[in-house]
Amino acid sequence: MSVDHQKLAAAKLWLISPPPAAATGQREAPRDLPYLSHALYALIPIVDDEVERLTCDEWWRIYINEEWFDAASVPDIGAELAHVTWHLLADHAERARDQDVDRSTAALWEKAADVTVSHTLLPDKLKPPRLPIASELDLPEARSAEEYFALISRLPPKSEDGEGDQGELEPTDGCGSGADGLQRRNEYGPDTDIGAVSKHDATEIRRKVAVEYDRHASTRGAEAGDALRWVKRTLEPEVPWEPLLNGAVRRAVGWAAGRGDYTYTRPSRRSSSLPGVVLPGQHKPVPRVSIIIDTSYSVDDNLLARALGEVDGALVALGVPGAQMTIYSVDAAIHTVERVRRAKDAKLVGAGGTDMRLGFRGVEEERPRPDVVICFTDGDTPWPSSPPPGAAVIAAILGRRGFPLPSTPKWATRVECLVDDRWARP
Ligand SMILES: [Zn+2]
Repeated sequence: MSVDHQKLAAAKLWLISPPPAAATGQREAPRDLPYLSHALYALIPIVDDEVERLTCDEWWRIYINEEWFDAASVPDIGAELAHVTWHLLADHAERARDQDVDRSTAALWEKAADVTVSHTLLPDKLKPPRLPIASELDLPEARSAEEYFALISRLPPKSEDGEGDQGELEPTDGCGSGADGLQRRNEYGPDTDIGAVSKHDATEIRRKVAVEYDRHASTRGAEAGDALRWVKRTLEPEVPWEPLLNGAVRRAVGWAAGRGDYTYTRPSRRSSSLPGVVLPGQHKPVPRVSIIIDTSYSVDDNLLARALGEVDGALVALGVPGAQMTIYSVDAAIHTVERVRRAKDAKLVGAGGTDMRLGFRGVEEERPRPDVVICFTDGDTPWPSSPPPGAAVIAAILGRRGFPLPSTPKWATRVECLVDDRWARP
């Protein structure tokens, strides 16, 4: 019950060894990825003919179809090893859990995760042909699995409620629990004597690989993208801003909805059958959201688009109809005020200086009054001395990591949305 260890060892060596001078650049030449060795040698191989080729579980066991393995070439095996190793290094299992991936969304998550793995593997000509790449799916390059998941599923990145589909996946579904955190029936759980890489050890392996990847990338030059982002996250863990913004929007809307001092009355279905009798409708609070956007040139468009997408995601997840949203484009003047279904549909006009007070003045004149006001700005602006009456205010400050950011008023919930210059450069 074990695979041909020599062939498996050969595939690992093929991945990490430098090519002999004569073979450099040849298609089958070794790939020279020494930084992967800590991860590759931690993998625990298990023969499993229920899987199609090779899958991984989140305890770093790899399940190998022996028939496929025997027929496959060393480079093919190497490519599959690199593929699952990146799922494990990137901790796609835990990240899937953070996104509430379940049986019904696992395939989309795996597609999203595979696109990021493809991006990492392509420069080294290691991408298994069946793995999708961003352009094939009309997706932007070099984004995170979470962003791709949101784009592919057209769902908000995380939904708070909803039971989720907890059914079991088949051994042949996707790349294994190591890629999505969902245990297949062929996989061993955490408590067996078959061997497992603990969460703690996995973190150590990731650190070692990240340190060596960083060193390798600095001598060779490397493609930006998920691998570099991963290195950065691993070596300098930071709290990502997206869930913070998402959470702030949800809390603000929840607060507004919870006040219950207004209701939106939907006519009861029964009213039509009882002419002349008005029955109480369903009372459903519909918070009104206004968004002030700093359109001065100092604001990074891509970052703004991502931040607006995050707001849309949070509002969709909460069931707030988009028609309730008013958007102000403001720099040193209010350029446009529009009503849009989604924040990212706003047509933004502007360029000059920055005075967000104008946007807040517009918001104050709105009737009915908005319940939630979100202001996107680089922060380099005067603020009003008090918030619009009755509104929860979020100040989303768009900036660059590592640069000091201006302060915001105490009455606003501050969320810093930051781009990484060092790693996110296209
Ligand atoms: Zn995969």
